[in-house]
Amino acid sequence: MKKPSQIAIDGPAASGKTTVGKLLADRLGFLFFDTGVMYRLATLHALKKLGQVDDEAAVTALTREMDISLRTNEQTGETEALLFGQLVNGQLHSPEVDKQVSVVAAYSGVRAALTEQQRRIGLLGDVVMVGRDIGTVVMPDAALKFFLLASPEERARRRSQENQAKGIDSDYVEILRDILRRDELDSTRTIAPLRPAEDAILIDTDQKAPEAVVAEMFSHITQALTA
Ligand code: C5P
Repeated sequence: MKKPSQIAIDGPAASGKTTVGKLLADRLGFLFFDTGVMYRLATLHALKKLGQVDDEAAVTALTREMDISLRTNEQTGETEALLFGQLVNGQLHSPEVDKQVSVVAAYSGVRAALTEQQRRIGLLGDVVMVGRDIGTVVMPDAALKFFLLASPEERARRRSQENQAKGIDSDYVEILRDILRRDELDSTRTIAPLRPAEDAILIDTDQKAPEAVVAEMFSHITQALTA
C-alpha cells in the first residue's frame, strides 16, 4: 500500500493550519513545513531593504537573492526562521508584515521563486506542508489534501488568544479586519488563489479542538492506507 508521504493542508488565515499541521507531522514523524513563513520572510526582507513593497520588480529581485533557512528548535518545537543567518521570528508577525504579506504573495515572480523551493522540499516526501496553494499548485499529487474552514470570528478569537499567550498586545477587531482583508486578497488573486483542490477533504474546525481535527485527519489517512 502506498504511504501518504505528502500531506497538504490549506486554508484561510488563522484557520489552525500550523497548530494542526505540527501535531499531525509529529505524530507521523514527518517534517512540518509552513510555507507562509517564506512569504513573510520575503515581505520582511523587502520592507527592510525598500521600506515598502509596491515595486514588484524590486521585491521579486530581493526574493530571488534572499538567503533563508528554516530549522526546528528541538526544545520548543517552534520553526525558527533565519534571514541571512539572523533569527527573525519575532518580526514575522509584526503588523507591518501582516499588512503587506498578501501584496507580496500576489507577485508572480515571488511565487515562482518560492514555489520552486517548496516543490523541492515536497519531493523529499514524509512532509506535512501548510499554506494556501499546496494542494492546488505546490504538491498537486499529494496523497492527502486537507482544507481547513472556520468562521472569521472564530479565527480572530483564536489568534487573539494566541497573541495573549505570547504576551503580544492584540485588538480583536483589528485582527478580524486583517483576517478578512488577507482572505479577500488571497482568494481573488490571479495566480494560485486560495481555494480547495478538487480532491481536498474539507474540515470545518469551528468548535473543534486541534486534537479532534487531527483525529479526523488520521481517520482519512487510515482509510487511504487501507483503500
Ligand atoms: O499562513 P500565513 O498566514 O502565515 O501566511 C501569510 C500570507 O502568505 C498569506 O496571507 C498569503 O498571502 C501568503 N501565502 C500564500 N501561499 C502560501 C502560504 C502563504 O500566498 N502557500
